[in-house]
Amino acid sequence: MNYTKKQFNNDQPLIFHIDVNSAFLSWTAVKRLQDDPNSVDLRTIPSAIGGDITTRHGIITAKSIPAKKYNIITGESVVSALQKCPNLVLTRSDFSLYKHFSKLFIETLHKYTDNIQQVSIDEAYCNMTGLYEYYRHLETKETPYPMCLAYAIKDDIRINLGFTVNVGISSNKLLAKMASDFQKPDKVHTLFPEEIQEKMWPLPINELHGCGKATAQRLNSIGIHTIKDAALTDQAILRSQLGEKAGDYIYYSANGINNSKVNPQKREAKSYSNELTTSSNITVDTYDTDMPPLLDSLAKSVSNRLKKDEQFASTIGAYVKTNTFKTHSAQTTLSASTNDYKIILDTANALLNKLLLGENGLFIMGEQIRLVGISASNLDDGSFRQMSLFDLI
Ligand SMILES: [Mg+2]
Repeated sequence: MNYTKKQFNNDQPLIFHIDVNSAFLSWTAVKRLQDDPNSVDLRTIPSAIGGDITTRHGIITAKSIPAKKYNIITGESVVSALQKCPNLVLTRSDFSLYKHFSKLFIETLHKYTDNIQQVSIDEAYCNMTGLYEYYRHLETKETPYPMCLAYAIKDDIRINLGFTVNVGISSNKLLAKMASDFQKPDKVHTLFPEEIQEKMWPLPINELHGCGKATAQRLNSIGIHTIKDAALTDQAILRSQLGEKAGDYIYYSANGINNSKVNPQKREAKSYSNELTTSSNITVDTYDTDMPPLLDSLAKSVSNRLKKDEQFASTIGAYVKTNTFKTHSAQTTLSASTNDYKIILDTANALLNKLLLGENGLFIMGEQIRLVGISASNLDDGSFRQMSLFDLI
């Protein structure tokens, strides 16, 4: 059956599973290219993440597609990987880098829906049910809904963040997850219930999501080799072999049945901040001349970023770092949220005056300032803004 020829029904459940292709390796490659656009793209050569590069110990945690051709597998020792491919380029793990890109990945998904469940650093489910009216404009003759929406998300991530994802589309989480695991990278696949027999049943049973190695071996030993074999086995037999819970799970999953819901997490509280390091330390004597231009530029950056994202902040903060590397901050909550440059500037200025010039201020304590920043938090999209005096002036 060709799903693409079917009319989409807006009431049917629609789940996307979005999975970054070779996440750690891709993210490392993107960072390297950002730092040096002339460097080699790690994704195009045999390369891997893992181990200690200097001692060449440890294990491989991710590898490029060219490295896969040398039969290098995740979890094998660096020593063994280097035997298979002496030219393998190794890069060390960098979890703060992965976290950074993971955050950008999830933020991009939030442009399309807030009904997102992140399940690992590089994977998330999106519940897209009922959004046809919002996204039908993406539809073309060649790419009907919902594939067009999946392509839009995939291409948005590739173009704006520089790495690729696979999108699996179905009516439940299990099938969407299975679909995103089909051919990689940079692909969109559907696996709707009517496609199970053709696309999922021929796969070996160990490729069924949630079927562990031990379960697969057990099933193999009683002649169950494919997902189809499991789907057509009597449920009672699966239960007697695997126990009630696992037996039921395999039986229902092999038949594409899964009732697990997408559980959206609360979005991480976001804030906008910009900071600048001073060209020379600011003291009580240079404050009046050196601080205003810095503050002006910071207020403009914060205001522009808020406006670009159509956000308003209720809390404005100012912070400084001293020449002894201590950070001090102050913040205040406004009566009405804002993204106005002048209000942000005046508020930050008042906060800094208090922080630095007051009786207990940092200058009295003999401190000098080497960095200054402005933050804006407690955000809203403006729809609940109260009318205030500021709006009437
Ligand atoms: Mg992945």
